[in-house]
Amino acid sequence: MPSEKQPAPFGDHNHHYAAHSLPGNRKQSEEERKLEALLADFDPKLEERVSRTIRQWNNILRDYLRTEMAFRLTVGDDSESIPMKIVPGLPRPLAAIIQPLDTTTLRLMLNLPLLNTTADGLAFLARHSPEPDTTQLAAAERIVRAHLQQLQRIELQKQLAAIHQDILGAYFFRVPAIQIYWMAIGLISRTLNIDPEALTTVVLLHELAHAYSHRGRDIDANRWDVNAFASADIHIVEGIAQYYTETICKKNEG
Ligand SMILES: [Zn+2]
Repeated sequence: MPSEKQPAPFGDHNHHYAAHSLPGNRKQSEEERKLEALLADFDPKLEERVSRTIRQWNNILRDYLRTEMAFRLTVGDDSESIPMKIVPGLPRPLAAIIQPLDTTTLRLMLNLPLLNTTADGLAFLARHSPEPDTTQLAAAERIVRAHLQQLQRIELQKQLAAIHQDILGAYFFRVPAIQIYWMAIGLISRTLNIDPEALTTVVLLHELAHAYSHRGRDIDANRWDVNAFASADIHIVEGIAQYYTETICKKNEG
């Protein structure tokens, strides 16, 4: 019987956050420069908004995790810190998706919600316009929908889902350290029309949940061995992080 292909474990060496050291400062690639300029057109303060959110929430979320998991990074004299940094640029798997897109396509992609609203708005006007001739409205709607169709062919969401790696932030479990990618957060928050602050908080919580579930010590001061963590089923590691992310988000909703 054909068996389903096993997904690579969480710490598979092909995963960008399985590196033994943090990626060093490197020159921005062409696609990163392109994306940074476009993001700055829409919101020159985006990086600052992501940084401010991290500063505001870092300690609060760590407290929530400690309470929820009953895990500690500090037990007696043994203390472990998980440094966190907001970095420019895109993680490798996301850069590969952006690389083939030209500037015009990328600009339209970053305005996907606006294009959808425009098309719906034009259709609404054509139906309810007091003017008898709606030919121009229909023509404009066709142009916008043609752009939308072109963007749909790129299947961004499907490509992102197929990566199976954290790409908005990452927990480098061998270092250990967390990186948050503000440009990736900008890209996704714009295409999905969500608040960058809200997305940053969830990403931060998710990566901290990875770090605490891995490095935190339980009541007997035991912790997850790094090699065992690396070879664990990715669904289990991600499931744990997601469980705590959702639990804490729900508790803070109301
Ligand atoms: Zn994750």
